[in-house]
Amino acid sequence: MYSWDDDTSKWYGSAKYEYSPAAAPARIASAERAKAAGPRSYQGKSGPNERIIDPKKMVSTQSANPLIVAIDVTGSMSTWPAEIFDRLPLLFNTLAQYRPDTEICFAAIGDAGVDKWPLQVTSFASGYDLEQLLGSLYGEGGGGDAPESYGLFAHWVNTHVEIPNANEAPFLIVFGDINMHAKIPSVQVKHYLGKEENGSKDWLTGDIDSIKEWQKVTQKWNTWFLRRPGGKRGDKIDDQWAKAIGAQKIFHIEDEQRAVDYAMGLVARSWGYFDNFQENMRARQDEAKVVQVSKPIEMICPRCGAPIPVRADGMFKCSFCGTTLKL
Ligand SMILES: [Zn+2]
Repeated sequence: MYSWDDDTSKWYGSAKYEYSPAAAPARIASAERAKAAGPRSYQGKSGPNERIIDPKKMVSTQSANPLIVAIDVTGSMSTWPAEIFDRLPLLFNTLAQYRPDTEICFAAIGDAGVDKWPLQVTSFASGYDLEQLLGSLYGEGGGGDAPESYGLFAHWVNTHVEIPNANEAPFLIVFGDINMHAKIPSVQVKHYLGKEENGSKDWLTGDIDSIKEWQKVTQKWNTWFLRRPGGKRGDKIDDQWAKAIGAQKIFHIEDEQRAVDYAMGLVARSWGYFDNFQENMRARQDEAKVVQVSKPIEMICPRCGAPIPVRADGMFKCSFCGTTLKL
């Protein structure tokens, strides 16, 4: 388990790493609360904390740098919330030193046809507050190899999430391994996302087209599908996600154990801190692993996913999306 304090001496790698002083006061506050709470452990045993994960709630943040991390928790991916929980202090403290107002919202996605909790969502939060929120998600493990209800989550993002201060399209990262139900029946939407008193009447218009919902998400969010190893590039799963978010935004993870690193790497690349992220990783992993994880991230624009010339360095303007990046 990673810890909330600044001690990186127990990290596995040989290189040293120190978090930047900028976000130190917030880290100290989190570390003190963590110390008072005792050893870290993932809560979800037999179900989620339903008061925390209810997708009927509206979620908003004043942060200019919100981040949504969604996890498919069907089948064998049910262990992923616990894996991410282990790395939560690393994930948050690494990104918050780049942009201290970063806030994260977590979501767990299942199958509304068979699961008891097919969509679980937290509010946005930072630091140690994330501990209880992420710990409240439950990896139900149903669904299996059937298509999942990713579209229900997309619709939730479009109707229940407000980010008034985001100054560029913020990251929305989905960890998953399968395709989605093309349609979400209106009865499911009403049942899980609430009724019209909640402020939005979108779901009263009938069934929901999942691809259209995702296309709408991508207009506001820098959306990525981080696909678990095992799938074949260009298969029907890739095909459907390509229609939903664009082929270039499907990222094939090579090493499942480094899933969180791929996500952190993409964000760090986009925010201009990729060198620092690699130093961070060197303190935890050997050089071959750092190179393996870095390479596919360095080859693409972290905004639009377009290829980046191998020799690009320094300031780089993406010819596809027009974004200027510090590489
Ligand atoms: Zn681009």
